[in-house]
Amino acid sequence: MKLYSTNRQSPTVGLREAVMTGLAPDGGLYMPERIPVIPAAFFNNISGMSVRDIAFVVADLMLGDEIDSAEIRQIVNDTFTFDIPLVKVEDNIYSLELFHGPTYAFKDVGARFLARIIGHYSSGSGKVKVLVATSGDSGGAVAAGFKDVPGVEVYILYPSGRLSRMQREQLDVAAGAVHPIEVLGTFDDCQRLVKEAFGDGELRSEFELTSANSINICRLLPQMFYFFHAYGVLAGREASGMRGRVVMSIPSGNLGNLTAGLLAWRMGLPVKRFVVANNVNDVTVDYLLTGKFIPRRAVRTVACAMDVGNPSNISRILDMFAGDHGPISRLVRGHSYSDDDILASMSLTYSADSYLLDPHGASALAALRDDIKEGETGIFLATAHPAKVAHTVCDATGVELKSPLRAAGTHRGQQHPRISVSYEALKKILTHTTNG
Ligand SMILES: *Cc1c(COP(=O)(O)O)cnc(C)c1O
Repeated sequence: MKLYSTNRQSPTVGLREAVMTGLAPDGGLYMPERIPVIPAAFFNNISGMSVRDIAFVVADLMLGDEIDSAEIRQIVNDTFTFDIPLVKVEDNIYSLELFHGPTYAFKDVGARFLARIIGHYSSGSGKVKVLVATSGDSGGAVAAGFKDVPGVEVYILYPSGRLSRMQREQLDVAAGAVHPIEVLGTFDDCQRLVKEAFGDGELRSEFELTSANSINICRLLPQMFYFFHAYGVLAGREASGMRGRVVMSIPSGNLGNLTAGLLAWRMGLPVKRFVVANNVNDVTVDYLLTGKFIPRRAVRTVACAMDVGNPSNISRILDMFAGDHGPISRLVRGHSYSDDDILASMSLTYSADSYLLDPHGASALAALRDDIKEGETGIFLATAHPAKVAHTVCDATGVELKSPLRAAGTHRGQQHPRISVSYEALKKILTHTTNG
């Protein structure tokens, strides 16, 4: 598998380099040079296959020339240690529940797969350090993802006082190789410190540094697997004539899920159309409607993981369609929702269908309801567990979710090293922790 940069100013690379550097040197995002097409016969048998079996077929097609099949099998088995049920919500509408992983959000899938690929490439070297800045949820997913991957040191920088109790507890995975670091500053300060580390030649001569952030191609690839899986489960339930009738709705922020869906479609997934749900940060929906992509400052909403004003994966999507708005806007439609709309969708779905949703899933369902036509079947991505935002669920539906979720961590309330916004302080930690 060769990968090129969407900016096309730096050379194509192999998977190892794309994974271990994240961003291309020219600032572009890596994309696979060749997207293999899955034989149509695969879709005739898909309804009997497990998510692991489907993931293996797709991953082996993409990565089989770089990683041997037995290892790919192991990596996908270790990634999917939880179910991804497809739940019927209404006639012709299904919820793909992606929130049964260790941190109760779909980001577990990408983080677990990426951790294992990095583990594969670093095995035995003892020199690989992964740095990531988090403003909330991705820190927990990365910590849980790397927990069982030996030999990789992971540093998670988070802004002091900005994480919820649960988000903080999710960092305490009690594994020697995951190091949360509390920074007395903002998320931007955390990101600046990470950038400084990447720019430190001395550090880089001693260790191989990489990032587990969301633009890494190996967080994206595994997200394709569950689009195939959803189609397979549906094909098993709705015996005939599924082909060409399925619409998939995606609650979108940085557009990772949409990009993965489009890659799956390129590989042959018979989806008729995708629907993007935005909150009021609707630069993507604006682009789909007008053909103009105009980034802007994000504002805070109830669906906060979608509060993105300049979605990074737009460059991958534009690249896939050679920048041509026509075909993109025929395949992908968009709808945007205010906080009130999102809460109304949560409330309606509970009263009409007795089904609880978090705000992200609720926006995707709203978009599906607004887009779907007679004769079509819709699947929306439920990206986070409703109990993660029990207060909001209670406000919208009156339901008090009793059982609080358990954090993946086992050592609650662990003390993390606390540093000021000083690269010297970070460097000290980076150079004084060894493989454990
Ligand atoms: C990250 C996230 C999203 C947005 O996904 P993208 O792939 O960035 O578009 C939606 N819902 C939840 C719960 C998330 O954590």
